Amino acid sequence: MSKSTKSKLVKQWVREDIRALSAYHVPDPGEMIKLDAMENPYLWPDAMKQQWLTLLSDTAMNRYPDPSAAKLTKRLEQVMGVPQGMRSILGNGSDELIQMICMALAKPASASDAPSIVMAPEPTFVMYKMIAQFTNMGYQGIPLDPHFQLDMPAMLEAIETHRPAVIFLAYPNNPTGNLFSEQDVREIIAKASGLVVVDEAYHAFAGHSFMPMLSEYDNLVVMRTVSKMGLAGLRLGLLSGAEEWLGEFDKVRLPYNINVLTQASAEFALSQADVLKQQTDQICRDRTLLQTELSTFDQLHQYPSAANFILFKVKNMDSQILFDALKESGILIKRLADSHGPLVNCLRVTVGSATENQAFINSLRTILT
Ligand SMILES: *Cc1c(COP(=O)(O)O)cnc(C)c1O
Repeated sequence: MSKSTKSKLVKQWVREDIRALSAYHVPDPGEMIKLDAMENPYLWPDAMKQQWLTLLSDTAMNRYPDPSAAKLTKRLEQVMGVPQGMRSILGNGSDELIQMICMALAKPASASDAPSIVMAPEPTFVMYKMIAQFTNMGYQGIPLDPHFQLDMPAMLEAIETHRPAVIFLAYPNNPTGNLFSEQDVREIIAKASGLVVVDEAYHAFAGHSFMPMLSEYDNLVVMRTVSKMGLAGLRLGLLSGAEEWLGEFDKVRLPYNINVLTQASAEFALSQADVLKQQTDQICRDRTLLQTELSTFDQLHQYPSAANFILFKVKNMDSQILFDALKESGILIKRLADSHGPLVNCLRVTVGSATENQAFINSLRTILT
């Protein structure tokens, strides 16, 4: 079959909006110091690694995994502090949980009705919008205020006008790094007629959570992931809330979505939760040091962070030039400038190990002075 025939077929059958997309781009870090993706920089102690490898060698690769990952779910609920009486389901990363929520809530546009709507403040995590599109939902992004807090009049008006099926609130927010006001989030949950998902991907660094408030609201679910805690490679997220909601989301979950290696490895890692806790506590201390260092640069304006990354604006210089110069010196961070209006000339750096952070600061000093 010729190339042009294939193109014709693709054009005939693949959705136009999908063909118009460019695939999510993840840069190849090569040998660079990787401070672009909110990863935990630490590996496990050798003894722990050996224990893990022994466990893996006993894993039955020929068998399907436990379809509901019951043991792991229970363990995660304990570690994450899910209140008694709540139900949880697991996803292949919290990305997959977002997808399940949207699949269950999506009602496509019809002659008489608009499609069901996903709403989120912006700038925020881009997957909410992407998955809304993949699932044929409508999307409403409501700009944050200049302090990256929720613009409450705009949010409440949009809730009235669009009656969103689901509102995603990243808490702390990515890429801005801040926590929204608890009072504002509570008001949104109270005023929303649809579901509110509080996405607590950065919980380990935040010290604030809506998990204990699950029983206060009929339309609240809370999402967590192990990715930012140091297990990004496993792809494992948790969604918790009332049985009524979670039971429905569980129906669109693919039966074996959490593979045996992830189930075994996550159970093991959570049995050593103190090691992960030491690592995330260290990252919190190093965040403070990094903030202090960053504040010594007149050319940079940094924003408050309750996560394991810091957003900063570059003054009097194109952030692309600084980004490229850092890359040249072997340090990969994230450039956000093009993505959203308020992020013009902004860069985002992940808090790495003390050595990595120092290398970043040293390079900054060389470039900027
Ligand atoms: C990183 C991130 C996620 C994705 O987590 P995975 O579990 O790795 O899919 C979800 N939400 C926010 C806000 C994030 O920044």
